[in-house]
Amino acid sequence: MSVYAGPVQDLIDELGRLPGVGPKSAQRIAFHLLKLPKEDALRLARAIGEAKDRVTFCPRCFNIAEGDECSICTDTRRDATVICVVEESRDIVAVEKTGEYHGRYHVLQGAISPIEGIGPDQLKVKELLARVDAEGVQEVILCTNPNIEGEATAMYLGRLLKPLGLRVTRIASGLPVGGDLEYADELTLGRALEGRRDVEGD
Ligand SMILES: [Zn+2]
Repeated sequence: MSVYAGPVQDLIDELGRLPGVGPKSAQRIAFHLLKLPKEDALRLARAIGEAKDRVTFCPRCFNIAEGDECSICTDTRRDATVICVVEESRDIVAVEKTGEYHGRYHVLQGAISPIEGIGPDQLKVKELLARVDAEGVQEVILCTNPNIEGEATAMYLGRLLKPLGLRVTRIASGLPVGGDLEYADELTLGRALEGRRDVEGD
């Protein structure tokens, strides 16, 4: 139902494609942008353009990066023998805030979700296995979200990694179940990391 004329409806449609933005919010944001002085609205458009031009994904860990590898992969003080596996780049921010972790990361860029048709092939799983082999990794911490998709992903990776003879751990429960890592406070997430448990091999 397009009530609005061309460009207004186009704007609403584009905004409505963003995660967590329903039709009503899309409409509200669109009208907010229309009311703004042109310069303010264009600043947003430019910020999107700049980010798309300059930000890429790290070819090693798939974190966001400017240039080639990300700032964590290129930091020689980080422990390269431990990899913390997360779903999205924003989860790295959550783990970094705990100050408890000094290894490297691997961003899957999603989680297994049969409902959304996302299987291991759509995630950076092959790339993780290649790193474990090539980088002398001794421990992989499965730090996916404590919800159905995150648990399924952790279980899947546990089964793949365990036979490779390295330590595979899962962050401890205690995080709000069904929630996202990014909403956990530093203290809780820090404790969950510290209390991580070895994944059972089967
Ligand atoms: Zn990286």
